[in-house]
Amino acid sequence: MTLEKYSIGIGDRFGRQGAAQLDAFQRAQAAGIMITPVWNKSNREHQIIGTTPADTRRAADQAVHARNWGSAYFVDADHIGLKNAGAFLDACDFFTLDVAESIGQPPDQADLAAFKKAQRRFVGRLTIPGLDADMDVTAAKLEQVGNTYLVAVKEAARLYRQIAAAKGTSAFVAEVSMDECDTPQSPLELLLILAALAAEHVPVQTLAPKFTGRFNKGVDYVGDVEQFAHEFEMDLAVVRYARAQLGLPASLKLSVHSGSDKFSLYAPMHRALKRFDAGLHLKTAGTTWLEELIGLASAGGEGLVLAGDIYEQALARFDELCQPYATVIDIDQRRLPAIAEVRSWDGERFAATLRHDERCPYYNPHFRQLLHVGYKIAAEMGARYLDALAQFERGIAKNVTENLWERHIRPVFLGA
Ligand SMILES: [Zn+2]
Repeated sequence: MTLEKYSIGIGDRFGRQGAAQLDAFQRAQAAGIMITPVWNKSNREHQIIGTTPADTRRAADQAVHARNWGSAYFVDADHIGLKNAGAFLDACDFFTLDVAESIGQPPDQADLAAFKKAQRRFVGRLTIPGLDADMDVTAAKLEQVGNTYLVAVKEAARLYRQIAAAKGTSAFVAEVSMDECDTPQSPLELLLILAALAAEHVPVQTLAPKFTGRFNKGVDYVGDVEQFAHEFEMDLAVVRYARAQLGLPASLKLSVHSGSDKFSLYAPMHRALKRFDAGLHLKTAGTTWLEELIGLASAGGEGLVLAGDIYEQALARFDELCQPYATVIDIDQRRLPAIAEVRSWDGERFAATLRHDERCPYYNPHFRQLLHVGYKIAAEMGARYLDALAQFERGIAKNVTENLWERHIRPVFLGA
């Protein structure tokens, strides 16, 4: 199973917006660009909401049927590990093998020796087309990379084989993720990680590295945009080289996680993709749920009351909601509006505070991030929340589609 050149990981926490999401992909198709939708949902999300991978599969299939989508689509077991892969085997055909926790664990000495022997062909002066300088690869550097990443690579291989044994090797796409860790991988580290994955016969089609800067959920990039742009280009050069030299799938590409809402990065990313004629998997951060809230609030009346109720409870349960996401959010509690103030707002004001539009004076990223992690409250509301989604479907769908199309697909893939 081959992942196409361009793909987007789309979250849909409550499984109601698949058709509205597909509308954005159909607009892209009409504009001449083919992008594959991948519905991703992590074990963490399933547990918080109380859904199963089969629910994600059903919602995806229904949306595809409703919109008559005739091209490829996938359901992603997002950020899974050896402990929880089993529950995703039937429903998913895309697996994000999360091995970040194994980074830095000391490898078995025989494994390390085998790695050094297999990869010593890179020692010396290494020229990779597209890089602005040659790389000096030393035996010491090779050993250091082995010490840092070899256990993670072996873990990815074990996980890959476990899934392949159950599904067959050609029945799924394998992504390897190393983004949820503290230290970004250098281009050389990325190359050696890919070489080690190739040596383990893992046909990785997309790899999510950790980039410099903060990729917080649902808000813009925090960091040095120029440095990111440089790093991204170097990584694209490495991936292109790895594809040609290492026997990895021709579809191999980078995956950018928490990739939604990184508006300041999209222009440099687009230029880099063009320059290297490279593919991309852009994994969004489940912000479709925020478009639901924006649609509910904008509707006024009951919709606005419901959105206010969710915010009120999110404020009261701040620590509990933020804890699982501590490394990927930055909320200043002093910047969160008091509930009395929020209750005085009309629907447009609520929506303007939540919608990610940096030009709007009301936009508040702290409010947005708290509500982003507040989906547990909507899940607990059960039928009250889901019925409201049905009642205000039209307004919500419009927000879901426009957010994907206008704010993500056009700038990243069309450069518009
Ligand atoms: Zn990730």
